[in-house]
Amino acid sequence: PYSGPSAAEILAKRQQYLSPSMHCFYQKPLNVVEGKMQYLFDDTGRRYLDGFGGIATVSCGHCHPDVVAAIVDQTRRIQHSTILYLNPAIANFAEALASKLPGDLNVVFFTNSGTEANELAMMIARLYTGSHDIISLRNAYHGNAAGTMGATASSSWKFNVIQSGIHHALNPDPYRGVFGSDGEKYAKDVQDLINFGTCGNVAGFMSESIQGVGGIIELAPGYLPSAYSSIRKAGGLCIADEVQAGFARTGSHFWSFESQGVVPDIVTMAKAIGNGIPLGAVVTTPKIAEVLTRRNYFNTFGGNPVCTAAGLAVLNVIEKDKLQENAHVVGSHLKNRLTSLMDKYEIIGDVRGQGLMLGVELVSDRKLKTPASAETLHVMDQMKEMGVLIGKGGYYGNVFRITPPLCITKEDADFLVDAMDHTLSKM
Ligand code: PMP
Repeated sequence: PYSGPSAAEILAKRQQYLSPSMHCFYQKPLNVVEGKMQYLFDDTGRRYLDGFGGIATVSCGHCHPDVVAAIVDQTRRIQHSTILYLNPAIANFAEALASKLPGDLNVVFFTNSGTEANELAMMIARLYTGSHDIISLRNAYHGNAAGTMGATASSSWKFNVIQSGIHHALNPDPYRGVFGSDGEKYAKDVQDLINFGTCGNVAGFMSESIQGVGGIIELAPGYLPSAYSSIRKAGGLCIADEVQAGFARTGSHFWSFESQGVVPDIVTMAKAIGNGIPLGAVVTTPKIAEVLTRRNYFNTFGGNPVCTAAGLAVLNVIEKDKLQENAHVVGSHLKNRLTSLMDKYEIIGDVRGQGLMLGVELVSDRKLKTPASAETLHVMDQMKEMGVLIGKGGYYGNVFRITPPLCITKEDADFLVDAMDHTLSKM
C-alpha cells in the first residue's frame, strides 16, 4: 500500500515549489501513484480507466512489462550521452523506425521532446530551402520554444514571442471552419498566403493531421494533398507533426498523414514513441538530412541508449500486441457508441476522430455551436468519480479528448461511454 504524502500535502508543495503555470485536472486533483496497462491507481488503491494516457505518451499501456524490461536492462548496462561513442541501441532503433516510414524517409535525428523535434524540423526546412517563411495552421500546437511557439497558433499557448516568418493558414476544421468539409477550398488559403504574404518561395508547411491540443480536429478531406502541392511549387518542404496522432493511434494507419494520402518530406514524432520515456525524433530523406553536415547538431541526450531501447521495445509491442488493429476495432466501436449519445443529448455538438484519438464537443446550442465549457469540466469531474479519466481540449476547453492507451478493451470502451451517458443523464 501507498505510504507517501497525501494529495493535499503534495498539492501544497506544488503550490509552493512548482511553477504557478502548472494546472491539474479536477476540483480535487488525483494523486496517481501507479499505472498498469490501461489503468491508473490513486493513493487509496482506487482504480481508474485511463481514457487520456495517449496525451501523456502511453501507447502500449502503463508500465508495459516489455518496455520496462528494455529500460531496466539498458539502464543496467550503460546510460550515457548519445554522442561521442557507438552504441547498438540508437542504431537498432533508427533502423526499425525508418522501416515504418514510406518512401525514402529513412534518416533519423533523435531529440528529447516534440518541441525539440519540431524546432529541428523547421531549421532543416529553412536550411534546405534557403527560405524563411513557414506556414502552419490556426489552432495548431507544435511546441513551446522560440520557433515552435510561433508555429503554435492559439493565444492560450503563446507568450510575447517573436513570431519570425510564420504565417497561419485557415484551419480546415469541418465543424467550425468557414468552408465546412471542403479541404480544397481551405488549401487555397495556403496558396494565398504564399502569393500575398511571402516573396513566393517558402521554407515549408507544418501541420498535424488530427489536431490534438486544438480539440481532436481532423483536417477536412483533400486538404493536405492540395496544400502540399502549393508548398512544393513554392520550393518548400512539407512537415507532418505526428507527435500525438502517430504510432498506430488512428488505427487505420500507422501514421495519421497516411489517411490524407500524402508523403511528407519531414516527419516529427514524440510522446508514444517511448511509451512515457522522454524521446522525440525527426525523420527525413538522405538528401534533406545532408544540410545538417554544415555544422554540428548537438543534443546531449537525444537518442540516448535507455530511451532508444525503450523505443525499440515500443515498436515490437505495437506489433506483438496488435495495437494498431485494436485501435481500429475498439476505436470504431467507441466512436459509434459516442455518436449514438448524440441522439440522446442535445449538448453533444460533434463526435469526431479516428481510431483511439476521439473528440466529443459540448455546445449549449447546436445551431450556434456555443461552447459548453463549464459543463465539460463538470462531466469530467463526475466521470472521474465513477472511475473514468478523460481529457479536454480545444480553444474553448469544451471538447473531451479521448486518447486511451492502445491496449484498451471493448469492455473498457463500454464502461467509458456508460459513465459519460450516466453523467449526462443527471444534468
Ligand atoms: N506537437 C504536438 C502535436 C503536440 O501535441 C505536442 C505536445 N502537446 C508537441 C508537438 C510538443 O511536444 P512536447 O510537449 O514533447 O514538447
